[in-house]
Amino acid sequence: MSIADNISAIKKEIGDTGVKLIAVSKTKPLESITEAYNAGQRIFGENMVQELVDKQEKLPKDIEWHLIGHLQTNKVKYIAPFISMIHSVDSMKLLMEINKHALKNNRVIDCLLQLEIADEDTKYGMDLAEAVELLRSEEFKQLKNIRICGVMGIATLTDNPRMTKEEFYELNTFFKGLKDTFFRKDPAFTEISMGMSGDYKLAIEQGSTMIRLGSTIFGNRSKKTV
Ligand SMILES: *Cc1c(COP(=O)(O)O)cnc(C)c1O
Repeated sequence: MSIADNISAIKKEIGDTGVKLIAVSKTKPLESITEAYNAGQRIFGENMVQELVDKQEKLPKDIEWHLIGHLQTNKVKYIAPFISMIHSVDSMKLLMEINKHALKNNRVIDCLLQLEIADEDTKYGMDLAEAVELLRSEEFKQLKNIRICGVMGIATLTDNPRMTKEEFYELNTFFKGLKDTFFRKDPAFTEISMGMSGDYKLAIEQGSTMIRLGSTIFGNRSKKTV
């Protein structure tokens, strides 16, 4: 199937649930992204800053770029002028740096808090207690150029669907807890970014609002780059 066919099949599965599709184009060439763009796709996710900046320069300016991979504080400045959403906020230090560069660019940058749900230590992300501490802090209250729009998580790579389901359920529970505690009056706190090619159907069942799909749209990547 072509990239356009893949996108339309996924759109059909998503139906009228309102779930947003992030096309994860990391390692994929401009031609593939253009093909997806011509099929109507406008939100693309990348995990490497340099690659993201190169692609953003060359591709249409109405693309919404999402950073989905770990972000080093010293690289924030390169994406701050244009990034639509950063899914991978995992520390106060990073959030303050994002705020600083958003201010320099006279923007408010949408962010998700990346929470650890997987059974592996190798994944980035905060635990719930760290997220609560961040949101309670005085420093956080000073930040006017970031907007926290929800949470993001990556499930354990496993072929046990029950485990994946439990991890997504947990992320949804964290989302609701944070919403009730810190964002009850904030209409922007709405997003749960969970679900990749191997597990997005389970993620949608568990309340995902954004699925991040690479190989389902573009085919397999030549090497593992997560
Ligand atoms: C690569 C990546 C994806 C997409 O992975 P696929 O399995 O190809 O769908 C989603 N989220 C993150 C954070 C990634 O790094």
